[in-house]
Amino acid sequence: MPLTIIQHPLAAHVLTHLRDKTTKPALFRTLCHQITLLLALESTRDLATEDKTIDTPLEPLRSRVLARPLVIVPILRAGLGMVEPFVALFPDVSVGYVGLERDHATAIARSYYCKLPSLDDRKVLVIDPMLATGGSAAQALDVVRTAGGIDVALVCIVAAPEGVAFVEQRHPGIPIFTAALDRELNARKYILPGLGDFGDRLYGT
Ligand code: URA
Repeated sequence: MPLTIIQHPLAAHVLTHLRDKTTKPALFRTLCHQITLLLALESTRDLATEDKTIDTPLEPLRSRVLARPLVIVPILRAGLGMVEPFVALFPDVSVGYVGLERDHATAIARSYYCKLPSLDDRKVLVIDPMLATGGSAAQALDVVRTAGGIDVALVCIVAAPEGVAFVEQRHPGIPIFTAALDRELNARKYILPGLGDFGDRLYGT
């Protein structure tokens, strides 16, 4: 903490195919789903649980269940690709949305939509596949914290050192979970080696 890079042979395998420019959108979506499942497990390791008494077929048992529903906040549009795997693992998850669009000329994010559930006493994960400059992530974290998010973390698939540093400077101590920490940004603020424009590859645009 604050930066956790997931270490799993399947994560390395999936990431390689995500990066491959010959990977078509259909497979890209499947790979995005798989890697997000791994990230979802890692980023929720510390979720609060509470006692519950149940009856097994043989005897009563005091056991543990999740104490509170999780909140995820995908940054539109690419973050949407990571919602389904979280829902698959946490069917009670509440989903908020922050719409930020990167201006391709300036690489500065502009906010065009925000809808959040109650964040009281919940763990909140802001999700966005590519942590590039960190501008969108920091802005989304601003929104979530202003709305009352206290236990907040950021989950991405590929991070650039510049983005990690920017988020750490704007939100010191915020945990960041990623599958890869890449080398650098290029002049157009794309991650190298990266995987190109995540949203475009996910939606075939
Ligand atoms: N967003 C992307 O989709 N890719 C990058 O490399 C950087 C930002």
